[in-house]
Amino acid sequence: MRKFIYSWRFYSFGREQYQECMNNVFNNNLLNIRHANTIVAIFAACFAFFPMVFEQDIFKSGIYLGVAFIAILISFYANYLMQLINVKKRVIYILITLFYANVMLFGSYIDVWSNPGKSAGLFSCLLICALLMYVNPPQFNLWLTLSGMGVFVVSAVIIKNYDIWIYDIANIFVAGSLSIYFNWHITRLRMGLEISATKLEEERNKYVDQSITDELTQLRNRRDFMQTFQRYLSNYRTSDDWLCVALADIDFFKFFNDHYGHPKGDECLRGIGAALNSLSSLGVYAARVGGEEFALLWFEKDVSHIEKVILHWKETIRNLKILHEKSKVSEYVTMSIGVYVVRCGSSHDTQGLYDLADKALYTAKGSGRNCAIVVGDEIKQYKITPKDE
Ligand code: GH3
Ligand code: MG
Ligand code: MG
Repeated sequence: MRKFIYSWRFYSFGREQYQECMNNVFNNNLLNIRHANTIVAIFAACFAFFPMVFEQDIFKSGIYLGVAFIAILISFYANYLMQLINVKKRVIYILITLFYANVMLFGSYIDVWSNPGKSAGLFSCLLICALLMYVNPPQFNLWLTLSGMGVFVVSAVIIKNYDIWIYDIANIFVAGSLSIYFNWHITRLRMGLEISATKLEEERNKYVDQSITDELTQLRNRRDFMQTFQRYLSNYRTSDDWLCVALADIDFFKFFNDHYGHPKGDECLRGIGAALNSLSSLGVYAARVGGEEFALLWFEKDVSHIEKVILHWKETIRNLKILHEKSKVSEYVTMSIGVYVVRCGSSHDTQGLYDLADKALYTAKGSGRNCAIVVGDEIKQYKITPKDE
């Protein structure tokens, strides 16, 4: 019994899966409320036209126009909610209830009070099945269907003759049962689709992420770097004047490996990776492009700011305090950096710029290591050495 109630409450899905999926489908509900309301508003406005022109019945027209007006208000509110990112579930339930009550009363009026014929009952059955449009919890659908049926049964019994309302009641019971039954199945299928789509999207994102991430350092890999580099170059940011391309290499890393062993070398690379990743707070993009080689890209408004970025970078590496007894330039692990700076919009290609930055790195290696060489088309070569070294 408990199992049955559980499966009824969550459409046979796990509770968490059900709740996550319900959160995802609310925009769909809102969209349906908006469409359905537009149709109701158009219908009600058309209905208002006839009594006004042919029967001069202001009361009847007023009721139709009132229904159209409420439908438009609900529509506008649904429209507004759709622009928001986090829509409250409760508000959607209230909107669905309001919309349904509006349509039910409207249906009762034209179907029972103003036209108490037999065929009118079929129209009410249609309205009861209208809930198939929404993805709702089963209890909510059950109560809405039962109250819709109640409205018709009570008004038909009061207003219609016995030989007519007995048909209406039979019709409504069939329609109500079918609505509840199909709603359960259709909603279950919709949720199943939604869950599969979410899973596929998650898997896809995971694989995309894996294909552009370097496993050891968790930095972006060479493939992502080449794509990002191309993108940076073809879509220069108009608010910036310069693009900086930096290549960096760990100093005497072979000695480090030979002395401390490969696992320690890997640990060192992971530390350097995390440090370079943290430069993203300055708007710097970092990738591992080779064994112990890294490439960084960032935009600058002012070339004099480059030195600040480099010094911050060097300080971040130094703060790691990774001991390197075999280094000939420092007691800790250090990096040599080559930066090539181009004006945004210049005609360089990625390979050309990469080679120029590599040349600058080579110069940094040749001029003592643990330093940065900055150079560019319009920038005379200069060297940056950390002050405390
Ligand atoms: P230089 O200052 O001139 O750059 O000297 P170096 O010793 O760093 O230069 P070299 O390019 O000769 O050495 C790079 C070393 O990096 C060689 C290799 O053992 C090490 N290396 C490359 N990839 C990895 C890796 O994934 N893990 C570890 N532990 N070591 C790596
Ligand atoms: Mg090296
Ligand atoms: Mg190297």
